[in-house]
Order: sequence, then structure tokens, then C-alpha cells
Amino acid sequence: MNYRHIYHAGNFADVLKHAVLARLVTYLKQKDKAFRVLDTHAGIGLYDLSGEEAQRTGEWRDGIGRLLADPVPPAVAPILAPYLEAIAALNPEGGMTHYPGSPKLTRLLMRPQDRLSAMELHPDDYETLHRLFDGDYQSRITELDGWLALGAHLPPKEKRGLVLVDPPFEEPGEYERLEKGLAKAYRRFPGGTFCLWYPLKQGAPVAEFHESLVALNIPKMLCCELTVKSDRGTTGLTGTGLIIVNPPFTLKGELDVLLPFLKDRLKQDRFASARAIWLRGEERDPPDDAD
Ligand code: SAM
Repeated sequence: MNYRHIYHAGNFADVLKHAVLARLVTYLKQKDKAFRVLDTHAGIGLYDLSGEEAQRTGEWRDGIGRLLADPVPPAVAPILAPYLEAIAALNPEGGMTHYPGSPKLTRLLMRPQDRLSAMELHPDDYETLHRLFDGDYQSRITELDGWLALGAHLPPKEKRGLVLVDPPFEEPGEYERLEKGLAKAYRRFPGGTFCLWYPLKQGAPVAEFHESLVALNIPKMLCCELTVKSDRGTTGLTGTGLIIVNPPFTLKGELDVLLPFLKDRLKQDRFASARAIWLRGEERDPPDDAD
């Protein structure tokens, strides 16, 4: 396990993932009934962007740094509000030093009746995360393989909630693992909302991944993707994708406003693009190879 999220925290992929996560949690709060968020690959929860590791890559500068460099237009501001308000709460002096990872962002948005279960397998990162949530009775932090949690921890006893699956993609076969993990988790918790992260990079088997997801016959499945630069001449991350199962009914419309804005604000060359499509749902979009 070589992956450490501190080198990537606040990058363009985090911006899209965390903006959507904040919307999903906000939507769950529309009903009084308690919910649980299961975060299977949680990271350390809070990132110091002024620290040596984050400074070494500087990835956050092309992500949250650029997002906050100029005011957000009025049409987009309400969509980003829960995400940006959580960041502002962590940086009361202004500036951008403390960046929330997925468990911290979730926790900042939760109400007293809501619960968080977060898994982290890297021993050092688990220790850091555990310390961050020490004494917090609403959060349970476990040093456990997140893929196992998709079986053992579902359905949650609250019977409402969100599952975030955000693996590091450092081993081959992660797209397949994600698809198999979703199949298992959905069988156990068909009423839940699921948010899965995947990378876009040269040679990534994204079309096959989408096809395998469609074959699961899950009725409501939304996909959103943001590409910030061409993948020619690089094997690194050039874009980011999310699959959202059982999305709130407002999410597609929000993504249709948010994605063009993020594409313009975060683009690194003229090959930037963004899209939100139904992989399965009432308004099924054409398959990948039709456009
Ligand atoms: N979800 C976090 C966020 O948005 O702030 C970032 C998570 S990072 C992409 C992936 C994390 O998964 C790393 O911290 C890594 O140590 C951890 N990890 C890797 N394999 C794991 C596994 N099998 N189970 C749980 N955590 C794992």
C-alpha cells in the first residue's frame, strides 16, 4: 500500500468528488430520519495543504486552489455551498490550509442523529484518522479492508444512507473490483445511495467498466466525468469519474450546471470536457460509442 492521499488532497478529482458528496449528504438531510454514511476508503480525514507532502506535488493548486481563486457565479454557488461552507469552517482565518477529506466533510455536514462508519487500511493513516475522530460518538473508525465492509456493514441499521467507495486504484483490476463490490453492496442495500470513484487516464477501460455496470441491471445509475487535459503523452490522471446509484432526483440537473463550470475553471488545456449521463435510468443516454 504505497498510496497516500496527502499528495493528492484538494486536486481536481477531489473537488468534483467532494462537491458531489456534499450534495448527497445535504439531500439526505431533507428528511428528519437518521442516516449513515459508510466511507470504505477514508484516508486521514483532514489535510494540511501547507505541509511538505501537499506542497511537494502542489496538486491542490489546480483543484481547490483554482476553484477558490475567483468568485463562484450565482448559478453555481448554491450547488457548491455545502462543500465550500465546510471548507470555510475549517479555515476561519481565510486562506486554504486545512482541506477536508471525505469523512471530515461528511462529519461537518451531519446532524446529531446521523452516523459515520469509516474504514482505512493503511496502518499510519488509520491511526491519524482514528485520532481525528477520537471521542466522537457519532463516528466509528475501523482498520478494515473497505471491500469487506461492503458485505459486513450493509445494510446499515438506520436503513437510510450513502456508501462512498473511493479506492486508490494502485492495483490492476480495480475497475472490476468496483463493479463486483457494487453488485454485492447493492444486493444487501438496494435502497441506499452509492457513490463510486474511478480515474480517467490513458488506456483506462472505462467503456468496458460502464458496460459491466449497465449489465448489473440496477435501475438508477448516473455517471459524471470531468477531464481536465489531453491524455496524450502522459500516463497520469487526466480526468475523474463518479458513478452515483440511486441519486437524488435533483442531482442530474445540478450536475448539468456544475460540470460546465468546473470544466472551465479547472481545465488545463483545450481538450478538457465534462458530462453527466444516465448509465441506467428513465432518460437513458446513448452508449459511449454513439457520441
Ligand atoms: N476518500 C478519501 C477522500 O475523499 O478524502 C480519499 C481516499 S484515498 C483515494 C484511498 C484510501 O484508501 C487511502 O487512504 C488508502 O490507504 C486506503 N486503502 C487502500 N486500500 C484499502 C482497503 N482495501 N480498505 C480500506 N482502505 C484502503
